[in-house]
Amino acid sequence: MRRLRRCKILATLGPASCDKETIAALHAAGADIFRINMSHADHAGMRERIAMIREVEQDVGRPIGILIDLQGPKLRIGAFGADSVVLARGAAFALDADKTPGDATRVHLPHPEILRALEPGHTVLIDDGKVRLEIETATAECARARVIVGGRISNRKGVSLPDTEIPVAAMTDKDRSDLEAGLNAGVDWVAVSFVQRPDDVAEVKKIARGRALVLAKIEKPQAITRLDEIVEMSDALMVARGDLGVEMPLEKVPGLQKRITRLTRRLGKPVVVATQMLESMIQSPVPTRAEVSDVATAVFEGADAVMLSAESAAGQYPVEAVATMNRIAEEVETDSVYRDVIAGQRSAMPQPTGADAIAVAARDVAETLDLKAICAWTSSGSTAFRIARERPEPPILALTPNRDTARRLALVWGVHAIVTKDASDIDDMARRACKFSNREGFSKEGDRIVIIAGVPFGTPGATNMMRIAFSSAEN
Ligand code: PEP
Repeated sequence: MRRLRRCKILATLGPASCDKETIAALHAAGADIFRINMSHADHAGMRERIAMIREVEQDVGRPIGILIDLQGPKLRIGAFGADSVVLARGAAFALDADKTPGDATRVHLPHPEILRALEPGHTVLIDDGKVRLEIETATAECARARVIVGGRISNRKGVSLPDTEIPVAAMTDKDRSDLEAGLNAGVDWVAVSFVQRPDDVAEVKKIARGRALVLAKIEKPQAITRLDEIVEMSDALMVARGDLGVEMPLEKVPGLQKRITRLTRRLGKPVVVATQMLESMIQSPVPTRAEVSDVATAVFEGADAVMLSAESAAGQYPVEAVATMNRIAEEVETDSVYRDVIAGQRSAMPQPTGADAIAVAARDVAETLDLKAICAWTSSGSTAFRIARERPEPPILALTPNRDTARRLALVWGVHAIVTKDASDIDDMARRACKFSNREGFSKEGDRIVIIAGVPFGTPGATNMMRIAFSSAEN
């Protein structure tokens, strides 16, 4: 099975997609990688879904990626005596260390470290920004605020702090336990929520020890301030537009999306554009024109993947949502202006390594000679990441002896991965590359492809050769 698009689809699983038949249907409709959101899944539920995905993978004979999304330090207010209260604009309201039920004048904030970090002038957003407070005075026991935007708030609603650096790591005890369970269950990617600093990503990488790749969700202004360091530390980024649009003015999100996709593309790291892409399809079998345009914009920007959240996890039309995304991406990628836009954003200078230079050369050779595929023998996948960074016109075929690598590459732009034993010598390298390229429908007898590999074979990080090969009948 071969996709007819380069941009990948990341579909979140949930109550609307928790049986094997639906997962198989989502994959058939275009989902390349599945997301399990640990805010809504326990360990047993996670393992069950992973087992079903692996069964589908076995049935279809294609590597499928699995990403777990750690909940992160989601901050919440405490409870009210009357379950909810209405705050009027201009009223005084306090967040404090008092555990007794709240009322229209105060509520418990069960995070002492946050009370200590709040300062006069800081904004506090409650329930995805529906209610906005501005802190006037703050002590370690009580932060007194003015209501800037009023409204009803109920028990344990979420709290966002756009101005306050939260003095806790991005990982909670629950995240540690979820991470360990996910790694043991064989997930391919781990997403870290509410990243503020590169150390937040480093901590997860230290625990993962290469067992999964680590993606940083960019959803806080503090992460934007340190974006260069965070992207350097991460294996991939997500433009998590849901929380980003709460913590920053909504109108800044499109520009940030462009900045983040360009930066990651320059560095050859995958980027996922996420949240509300086809939101209306939670209830409707057809999206709005604006949603179609939003997905198309991400594809034109060269995002590695576009994500579905509630659309595939809890909506009424999960398979239709994936199929719609698939159709949009296929259509955009055949549009006459697509190649111009993609090529226009290509980074002028590769990184100064042999592997990067060979990846650039492979793209040049393939496009100049109109070759049918760029085939990379890769053990860790890094050669495939490098070719994807070039966003070449011919398809990318990654041949790897490593099943985990093939699954991880499910998130990477344009890469079609195949698990096969390593090449034994240069003839075998060329012969089998042509064979797989023909078998997967990229080329046919008489066509030429370009192959890149590292010699001696089986040495990770040794990319040092490029060869043009003819597909012949013997292949
Ligand atoms: C987001 O905020 O956009 C996001 C993807 O995170 P979550 O779904 O965990 O809120």
